[in-house]
Amino acid sequence: MKYYDKLIFELSREGRTGFSLPENGWKDSPDDIPGNLRRCRLPDLPQVSEPDAVRHYINLSDMNFGVDTGFYPLGSCTMKYNPKINEEISAHPGFSGLHPLQPAETVQGALKLYAELSSWLCSLTGMSAFTLNPFAGAHGELTGLMIMRQYHISRGDTKRTRIIVPDSAHGTNPASAAVCGLEVVQVKSTPAGTIDVGDLMPLLDDTVAGIMMTNPNTLGLFETEIREIEASVHAAGGLLYYDGANMNALLGKVRPGDMGFDIMHLNLHKTFSTPHGGGGPGAGPVGVSSRLAGLLPSPVVIRDGKTGKFSMAGNPGGPGRISGFAGNFGVLMKACAYIMALGKRNVTKVGPYAVLAANYIKESLKDRYRLPVPSLCKHEFVFDGLKDVSPAVDGISTLDVAKRLLDYGFHAPTIYFPLLFHQSIMIEPTETESKETLDAFIEAMRKIADEAVSEPELLKTAPHCTPVGRPDETLAATHPVLKF
Ligand SMILES: *Cc1c(COP(=O)(O)O)cnc(C)c1O
Repeated sequence: MKYYDKLIFELSREGRTGFSLPENGWKDSPDDIPGNLRRCRLPDLPQVSEPDAVRHYINLSDMNFGVDTGFYPLGSCTMKYNPKINEEISAHPGFSGLHPLQPAETVQGALKLYAELSSWLCSLTGMSAFTLNPFAGAHGELTGLMIMRQYHISRGDTKRTRIIVPDSAHGTNPASAAVCGLEVVQVKSTPAGTIDVGDLMPLLDDTVAGIMMTNPNTLGLFETEIREIEASVHAAGGLLYYDGANMNALLGKVRPGDMGFDIMHLNLHKTFSTPHGGGGPGAGPVGVSSRLAGLLPSPVVIRDGKTGKFSMAGNPGGPGRISGFAGNFGVLMKACAYIMALGKRNVTKVGPYAVLAANYIKESLKDRYRLPVPSLCKHEFVFDGLKDVSPAVDGISTLDVAKRLLDYGFHAPTIYFPLLFHQSIMIEPTETESKETLDAFIEAMRKIADEAVSEPELLKTAPHCTPVGRPDETLAATHPVLKF
């Protein structure tokens, strides 16, 4: 029996303790904790023995699923393997022991790392300056949009309050725009899955601040009309924002700066292999083109051309501070280690392998799952439920398929996003998985398609092998039970 079969959370027993402090009895040693250091009341903690406490937490951690325990093909949220050398390097006491208020002359190494990582990101993206201060992708979007607003306002162009966002965009795009005080205008996708340029053109007037794009977009498709879009948005006086959260497919091959984008963010915790989700905080650096370089948020890291010394300074032209100090430094170090370990040559292999893995899965499953956009994909693609729509599988939804995958030991892909289809399953395998893993996943997906016909109840009641079965999701959201 597994620990979780019992789900014992009430382990506390009156009077049981995990420690003892006997009188130590040594000569000249104080026998007891001095009275002024003692608590007046016992803390209100469970009364458990040390082994019970240790087992409780170890068993709970056993119930977790992460990229270190299995394949995690979450679309639009790159869950690539996080190399452990990155952790070791970022834990180096020379960096982890720094205090953000230390004088600049005592943290020259950290400031140099900030400057070097910024310049590598510039060279990978074609931007001319980066801030590493934002804490997440959405935080980077907000920062980038504040820069966009600042740019228009600084030129006296105050009418520009509308931002164009495609209907396939990640949910954080319209949310960040709204937080920034911009009015979101949606542009439609064509049936082929890319931006409908015909729908875009009439939207471009002198009230448009810019457009937010993801390329390849959330369907994993490259926006082939990007040249025309870029020329039209710029001609209308707007700026182009690039959502580079998942830049896997393009890394070292194609640069947003060369496509004409003015502002972009990267998720170091997706493309650059730093852990996320339960695994740690993130970082959402923002890059800008040369005409916006003076508008980065404070503080900025500056290198004195004569002495070579680094310092941090406020930037009066920018939108002010968007974080306390210079970002999540440990995360920046992990990304730096990743980029250095890959080297300039190997960085160009990330994209092709990510694209190969995604197309391999897509082609191996498209006879069983409906593929609404059949073209070559980049790092991810979207199925729209099972291909078989006969009465035998009637009522089997994407949710059932995803839940059943858990029984096969795989994390479910992203489901019901993008909203363009009713039964979206969005799969992103990344470049870090072996062919054996991809084959095992394909086999599980094919078995599930078989089960949908032979044993539909098995899918509708899945998962059967996880610590928690299928909760009522509405009830779980409206009446969460947070303790046992
Ligand atoms: C993950 C993601 C974001 C948001 O990043 P967070 O770090 O979760 O805030 C934005 N856009 C796209 C396309 C993403 O995949």
